[in-house]
Amino acid sequence: MTRHTKIVATLGPASSSPKVLERMVEAGIDVVRMNFSHGTAADHKARAEGIRAAAAKHGRIVGILGDLQGPKIRVGKFENNKITLAQGDGFILDAACKLGTQERVGLDYKDLPKDVRPNDILLLDDGRLKLTVEAVRGTEIHTRVLVGGELSNNKGINRQGGGLTAPALTAKDMEDIRTAAEIGVDFVAVSFPKSAADMYMARQLLRAAGSDAVLIAKIERVEAVENMAEILDASDGVMVARGDLAVEVGDAAVPALQKKMIRMARDKNKLTITATQMMESMIHSPVPTRAEVSDVANAVLDGTDAVMLSAETAAGKYPVEVVESMARICVEAERSAEVTLDREFLDRIFTRIDQSIAMAAIWTAHHLKVKAIAALTQSGSTALWMSRLNCGVPIYALTPDVVSLSRMALFREVRPLLMAQQHTEREQLLAEAESLLIERGVVEIGDLIVLTIGEPIGSIGGTNTLKIVRVGDHLNTQP
Ligand code: PGA
Ligand code: MN
Repeated sequence: MTRHTKIVATLGPASSSPKVLERMVEAGIDVVRMNFSHGTAADHKARAEGIRAAAAKHGRIVGILGDLQGPKIRVGKFENNKITLAQGDGFILDAACKLGTQERVGLDYKDLPKDVRPNDILLLDDGRLKLTVEAVRGTEIHTRVLVGGELSNNKGINRQGGGLTAPALTAKDMEDIRTAAEIGVDFVAVSFPKSAADMYMARQLLRAAGSDAVLIAKIERVEAVENMAEILDASDGVMVARGDLAVEVGDAAVPALQKKMIRMARDKNKLTITATQMMESMIHSPVPTRAEVSDVANAVLDGTDAVMLSAETAAGKYPVEVVESMARICVEAERSAEVTLDREFLDRIFTRIDQSIAMAAIWTAHHLKVKAIAALTQSGSTALWMSRLNCGVPIYALTPDVVSLSRMALFREVRPLLMAQQHTEREQLLAEAESLLIERGVVEIGDLIVLTIGEPIGSIGGTNTLKIVRVGDHLNTQP
């Protein structure tokens, strides 16, 4: 079963045992997400070890994504853990309140009263409750309940239309960045960035902690939507974080934004993850709803690199079945889609030699209808460029670099393969590439493949050579 779209699965209490992790690996997860909003550093470290062991045992490549909590604004705790608010009730959000009651609750972001104005609409618990601001007095925000319901400890607060000024990276995030660096995560996701500056800051902190992870901006604020182009330029990819985004922009605006974000990201050679509630009902049910099946399939058709599971795998009852279902839906959606090469690149001007070779490889592979593309790459950039054009030919990225290997686990259409050794002999290198593809059952003797490589072999430098290879030619030259 060849699948182009990748699956990101959040780890949590439901997916920590070696047995479940192994079954999730077998079911096809490509990247695991450590959600720093929950659990301790020790939990995350243990899960990272667990997933690495499971992946190694099954000969699979699984990347690790560390997702920072960010400045999610939350209410404090309640005396009795929760209250119920009815429409028309008065309710006070009070930065000075220690323990909440039916009348008022505390805030973890003490400056919130400075950010809100009368008539603002505040949404609590992912928009389940709705309050309108009547007045702000010192530390107190006086509100009236528009839509009531149960409100429990530490639920999130958003303002409709966005505009809350809490800084992008909190003290906890800085701590978590250090944990992420110690774990050696492949990707870091930044929550609630508003601008490119937030992403530059995150990257600097990451570098200072000794990590070179791929940086993903979670688009979940109105400001981030407005500043999308500059945020993309400052990041390696974006997450369509539909949970918070829907609360800020209104749920009905999200599908169009998802399409726009994925298109923009691909045009800028960036990565995309489509996230939140994709298979939500499978937290409790062994099968998805029809709507969920359509949602996953549509994200695939939009061209996302990866679809993500949150509570479904972190805390759900069916962490393995949900991955199996998602994989099945992706494959079927890919099969149904007509392959239309992104032709826009035909008119583009390139300044980089390696990028030109990547584009030439895609053009050739598409028109010559070869079996596979083999990109012999160090950094993985050649594979990234190739994977942005929807050429329909599987891209095998062969590298001796284990860091590049797990990063490429997220790239749509790309299958990373580890080269056993650093070669200095061109013929040996090509022979190993061919045997690796034969071993994996990708090609047979006599098949045509398109291969890209940097020459001279063994020197540091980018891809500069495109070769059309009939499989077996290089094997024959071996003694
Ligand atoms: P979260 O981010 O799961 O960390 O809230 C994703 C989202 O908001 O959709
Ligand atoms: Mn979020």
